[in-house]
Amino acid sequence: MGQSSQPSADYQALLDAYTAPADRLLVEKLPDKAVRCLACAHRCTLSPGQRGICRLRFNQDGELRVPYGYLAGLAVDPVEKKPFFHVLPGRSSLSFGMLGCNFRCDFCQNWQSSQALRDHDACTGLTPNTPEQVLALAQKNGLPALISTYNEPLITSDWALALFEEAHAAGIKCGFVSNGFATPELLSRLLPFMDMFKVDLKCFTAEGYRKLGGRLAPVLDTITRLAASDVWLEVVTLIVPGFNDDEKELSAIAAFLASLSPDIPWHITGFRPQYRYQDADATSADVLTRAWNIGRDEGLHFVYTGNTGLCRQAREHTLCPGCGILLIERQGFFVVRNRLHQGRCPDCSTSIPGLWH
Ligand code: SF4
Repeated sequence: MGQSSQPSADYQALLDAYTAPADRLLVEKLPDKAVRCLACAHRCTLSPGQRGICRLRFNQDGELRVPYGYLAGLAVDPVEKKPFFHVLPGRSSLSFGMLGCNFRCDFCQNWQSSQALRDHDACTGLTPNTPEQVLALAQKNGLPALISTYNEPLITSDWALALFEEAHAAGIKCGFVSNGFATPELLSRLLPFMDMFKVDLKCFTAEGYRKLGGRLAPVLDTITRLAASDVWLEVVTLIVPGFNDDEKELSAIAAFLASLSPDIPWHITGFRPQYRYQDADATSADVLTRAWNIGRDEGLHFVYTGNTGLCRQAREHTLCPGCGILLIERQGFFVVRNRLHQGRCPDCSTSIPGLWH
């Protein structure tokens, strides 16, 4: 694991200017002006002047300040790109991101925004923005979903909450693309205003999560809570050669998900060398095929491969778990054909779980 270099003082001052007091349910006041942040499972206890592990949230004279009032990324993306395969197939989402993360994955795909204030080279700019502006943009363009992504949404959840409270009430579907290192307090606060949650289950060992700067148990707890909630859950595992491609580990992940519900979609995606993880090979088509078979053998109904280059075959389609017929045909992020009828298989009437409308 590489070490982060120091950010510039100017960049830190810029990001500190775009902050607000934490949501009152995401902070605990402690003696001597200390605070405990409840936004993620690090549960940082901060004295005045101290910063959390994410570096973006900090104690200013007894007040927890958190990212607010800006965006660092904004794009109209297919919902399938997040990936959500059981949500509004073929529709677009307004995806937004801020800055920062509570993990430090050497293979991060979005390190330039996620590692802000932790890696000197990660200095993505920002654009001042309000929740009202983002909601108005989604409505003006008829976009049915808002998704917090690019950086780790948990650490910028106060801003997302302000947006989601209004958007959810207006009938727009709201979601996170997250590492799942959440707290029960955070989930209680946010889930009433959310429709979907994608969790990266990055591996299935304590040692693996330690390398990433996190812990396995809170991620499993988040997935368990989401599976029992009304919020739609999909899980992704990026298969990184030498890190998590052991077949026993992949079986353990699939078995865990199947034990919660065989209807949780499991996306297994291919890695390509990047950021500080340049020496490993890209994930081979054989490994992805084996992982797909493992997911099916463990009882999961919906297993999808992604980032597979030319080796897509039929593993990115939705098949009916009742009769096996093709229901949603995809090519990468694009829906070629959708045969679902009112959320059911048109041939055998099996109900297919998801947010289809
Ligand atoms: S979001 Fe997590 S890492 Fe950041 S201050 Fe809060 S508890 Fe610490």
